[in-house]
Order: sequence, then structure tokens, then C-alpha cells
Amino acid sequence: MNLTSKLPNVGTTIFTEMSHLAHKHRAINLSQGFPDYMPDSNLLDLVEKSFRKAGKNQYAPLAGIFSLRETLCNKLNHLYGSNYHPETDITITAGATQAIFTAISAFVRKDDEVIVFKPAYDCYEPAIELYGGKPVLIQMQAPDYIIDWEEVQRKVSKKTKMIIINTPHNPTGKVLKKQDLVKLQEILEGTDTLVLSDEVYEHIIFDDNKHQSVAKFKDLWERSFITYSFGKTFHVTGWKLGYCVAPKALMKEFQKVHQYNVFCVNHPLQIALNDYLQKEELYLELSQFYQEKRDYFLDLIKDSRLEFAPSEGTYFQPVSYKNITTEKDTAYAIRLIKEKKLASIPVSVFNKNKQDDKILRFCFAKRNETLEAAAEIINSL
Ligand code: PMP
Ligand code: GLN
Repeated sequence: MNLTSKLPNVGTTIFTEMSHLAHKHRAINLSQGFPDYMPDSNLLDLVEKSFRKAGKNQYAPLAGIFSLRETLCNKLNHLYGSNYHPETDITITAGATQAIFTAISAFVRKDDEVIVFKPAYDCYEPAIELYGGKPVLIQMQAPDYIIDWEEVQRKVSKKTKMIIINTPHNPTGKVLKKQDLVKLQEILEGTDTLVLSDEVYEHIIFDDNKHQSVAKFKDLWERSFITYSFGKTFHVTGWKLGYCVAPKALMKEFQKVHQYNVFCVNHPLQIALNDYLQKEELYLELSQFYQEKRDYFLDLIKDSRLEFAPSEGTYFQPVSYKNITTEKDTAYAIRLIKEKKLASIPVSVFNKNKQDDKILRFCFAKRNETLEAAAEIINSL
């Protein structure tokens, strides 16, 4: 048979590759972003209860159970001053990945342009390309990774179907500031360009930074999909549950795809999450929890030969190893696993043309013992 790949340039994700190597070489795994501790046992008790409720192990409604949609819209409207309606503006999804894929597939057609800021999380571009769209890449430069809004202005045209933003940002740990969102709003005024705002780390933000959701900006909100993940917020990345919000007209198109893609997602987990979400301190205290982890980790490696500025959000810390070796980051990351038993993610894989800035990403969503063992290796480099 003559098979022609629709994604000829796509291989296995760096997360799978690095976690696999970490496992094979018994390395400490600070590569793929997931916690190495258990979720709250209260959440697990709620899950057990909901799995035993009569009728709740069957299909959920297409958009998700109403009580959860209502809780989430109230949460967003309270935190960001938006006006999302649970009947029409939200869908519970199989993680943020499915939400992102569905939003892109519902709107991007052949030859549509989609602006993507690099380094970028890896699931955006393949989805665009599958639907014949063209990713228009804008590289943010290390170490500050600031968006050049003049370049954005130059690249926005009638062909620009969508702009994808991500704050707090994976893999750089940077956050967009209010003036960034204001700039984006100004540039898009009068256009038909949509925004896809990936905000999975909304509750992991440090120091004096405030999360700038597009939901806070009326003129952006009207044209935006926003994606979220329970995996990140409640230490349950393996559950693959998240949600997407957008104004009614956008969400209607999203659900046309969603209903044939998955129809609905895990029913009992939605019940448990709705009960759990009633205590807002559980997510409002998350930044503090991760800021302590970040500070603990950075204090342990402060005398190492790595250079870094503290992450502003997410549970990732990028570090420069330029004082140690001139090796390419992908080669160095693999050597660190094999020879030093420490796994990280080389950031070049997320850059335009795989630009190598000698930066590795460490995930600090780990128990203190794990961070201490990793720091011992880092300090020996
Ligand atoms: N966006 C970003 C920026 C991420 O880091 C991730 C991975 N956690 C996702 C989306 C996907 O989230 P999920 O695991 O809920 O699919
Ligand atoms: N979001 C996780 C990370 O950035 C990885 C998720 C995945 O493996 N696809 O590490």
C-alpha cells in the first residue's frame, strides 16, 4: 500500500521520549510535567463515591454535567469578571489537549494562517496542519521571551484565522502582563481573527504576578476560546479532564465537532470534581504551594553552574547551562539522563527552526526528596 502521512514531520513527543529514557536509565524524572505525589485523598473519596452512584456510570450530557458547568462558569465570572453562561458557553473535555484540538479543527481551513508564539507547547501546530492551516511562527527570544507586538501587527492579515497564546507559559515559565493583552486587543480590533488562549496553569502563578485571562478583556473575550485542565490544578494529569469556554456562537461550532469526536467525557469524575470545586481555597492556595516548591528547588541549586531567573508561573523552571558545555541541548539532555541519571526537557524542540539557546526545562512538581536528589546531581555538574 502507498501510505502518505498527513503529518510527515511529526515524530514521538519529547515528553514521551524523555520519560521513556528516564525510566530506561532509572534517572530522576524532572522532564514530563506531572507530580510525583498523590492527589488529595478527599478528592479520591469523592471519586469512589461517585463511581458507586446509580446511573452515573453511563454517558454524561454532551457538554458535561450541568452542575459542573455551572460551578466553572461561576468561578470564571467571579475571578475574571466575565459573563460565561453554563447552558451555552462551556464544554467539559478530555483534557486541555482535546479542547485545543477541537477549537482548532472547528475553525481552521485550508490555507488559513494561525499565529503561534515559539517556544510553543507541542500540540498546537500538528492540529493546525491536519486541517490544512499554516502556522505562522513568531519566536520569542531567550531569556526574557517577550512578545514583539510590532511583529505580531505586521503578521496579522485577512488570512489570520486564529492567534494562540499561552499564559502562564510552558516551557518558559513566563506570564503575559496586562499590557500584552491590551496590545493584542488593539491589534485584533475590527478583524475576524479568533484567539485560542491556553490557560491550563491559571492557578500556578508566583510573586506579584496576576493571571491575565483573556476572560478579563471584553473585546478579546468575544473572539476567544479558553482552555483549562483539571490535571494541572488537582495533581491528576492521568485523568485527562479539562474544559473549554467561549461565547455561544463559537461554542456552538466547537460542540459540532466535540459531539462526533468524543460525544462526552468521563461522567463519574465530573461529579466528583464538581463536589470538590465547592472549596475555592483548594485552587486559590495552589500558587503558594508551588511557589514554595520553586523556592525550595532554586535555593538548593543556587550555587550550581546553571543560570536562571525564577519562573513566574507553571511548575517549570528553565535553566541555562551555557557555563557548562557548548553541546546542543538535545544531546546534553540525553547525556544527562544516561551519565548523570537526571531527566529534563531540551527547550529547542519547541523553538522556531529548533533554535538552540542552551536551555533545559525542569519540572518542580515533585516531592522534596526528589528535588533534593536532583539538586545533588545538578550541583555536581
Ligand atoms: N497546554 C499546556 C501549556 C500544557 O502544558 C498541557 C500539558 N499539561 C496541556 C495544554 C494539555 O493539558 P491536558 O493534560 O489537560 O490535556
Ligand atoms: N504538559 C506536559 C509537559 O509539558 C506533558 C504532557 C504530555 O506528555 N503530552 O511536560
